[in-house]
Amino acid sequence: MSVAAEEQALAAALAAAEAAYLSKHPQSAARHAHALRFMPGGNTRSVLHYAPFPLTWTRAAGNRLTDLDGGEYVDLLGEYSAGLYGHSNPVVNGAIKAAVDAGTVLGGPNVFEGRLAEAICARFPSIELVRFTNSGTEANLMALALCRALAPDRSLVLVFAGGYHGGVLDFRNGIGPLTAPGGWLLGTYNDVQGTRTLLRENAARVAAVLVEPMLGGGCIPGTVAFLEMLRNECSAHGIALIFDEVMTSRLSTSGLQGLHGIRPDLTTLGKYLGGGASFGAFGGRAERMQWLDPGRADSFAHAGTFNNNVMSMAGGLAGLTEVFTPAACSRLNALGDHLRERLIGIGRAHGVPFLATGVGSLIGLHFARSVFPVDPLARRCAALDAQRRSVEALFHLAMLDSGFYLSRRGYMALSLPTTADDCEGFSAAVDAFLVDHRLLLRAVIPG
Ligand code: PMP
Repeated sequence: MSVAAEEQALAAALAAAEAAYLSKHPQSAARHAHALRFMPGGNTRSVLHYAPFPLTWTRAAGNRLTDLDGGEYVDLLGEYSAGLYGHSNPVVNGAIKAAVDAGTVLGGPNVFEGRLAEAICARFPSIELVRFTNSGTEANLMALALCRALAPDRSLVLVFAGGYHGGVLDFRNGIGPLTAPGGWLLGTYNDVQGTRTLLRENAARVAAVLVEPMLGGGCIPGTVAFLEMLRNECSAHGIALIFDEVMTSRLSTSGLQGLHGIRPDLTTLGKYLGGGASFGAFGGRAERMQWLDPGRADSFAHAGTFNNNVMSMAGGLAGLTEVFTPAACSRLNALGDHLRERLIGIGRAHGVPFLATGVGSLIGLHFARSVFPVDPLARRCAALDAQRRSVEALFHLAMLDSGFYLSRRGYMALSLPTTADDCEGFSAAVDAFLVDHRLLLRAVIPG
């Protein structure tokens, strides 16, 4: 078959899959149609949208999700890594329920926040003092604000194309239309030479470098050489190095910084560390964080009505100290490493452009022959590639049909209840998809 014929076959396969999806999920379709009347796109969180409409979830337990039409799915998305504990973990839920029963909006310190701070400082040696926020976005905004306040004569922050640090700190396609204003210097992720030069040329004007040690978008790990270069250059030029470990903190007991042995000046956290309730945190060297001490006459104020809300504090504390033990952390990340290798092997065995990237329990699937090195503009073109988008959609609908939930872009975050059998079942579904579509994939995915 010619490429044009394969492209037509792809369009026809996708149309058939969408029609089957619609007939299988009438109640989710109706729920979406109702929401469309009151919310733009029927949606209040863009990443959760996919065509023709997203499934509506009604129940969840362990790593199983139930949709409005009664279908059950293995949850491989794990709420973009915030669902580490799985659904309704009894220890975490018990702690949240007890806290709620004892009173919610207390308007003062509670018994959980100091203990959660202690547990976080114990896990992450680079975090000597920590503050809580309501989201990872807010944690990054506060960390940046603190660094800028401490270096008022430096107006720039170095970030990386492909990076994501929150709704208003979105650099996946460069500096986005909703990116918070001000002073961004945009580097190329994993480009050691280019970034070193950029930093040296602008050193006196750079207050901070904000970087994910693994790009969450696509699960592209930062190389040790790249991250070490950032550490060295920041130290040499008095620049604050901020690791955004909102997503990656789960990859060892002390995050990716612990795995790589690199100590940032500040770290931002979020996701599962609130036990499934809204959460963010930023922390690091005492010499920086102590400026937030309200006992100082010259302190900077850090506000937030719900920073210490008892749901996040109690749930986060129970989860981190009683559930996400070092043994549980190792088991889950080993499971992810094994699954990634298995998926890579399946793609290779069928000779199709299919890759799995990531570290430990975070996995990115790609219909591509290569995702390294990361060139942001190449990534951007690839992201706009209509054929690849159609393949991703076809794959996603096929996985849903087989009972596996992951993101449309192929992002997966395994949760603690995930078993080796779940991974085997998913591998079999991927294998079947690649077998069924191998000719089409080889034809429509560019080399
Ligand atoms: N940083 C990273 C690396 C993230 O993955 C996210 C969320 N996906 C954020 C920051 C923002 O966190 P939140 O959604 O809690 O604001």
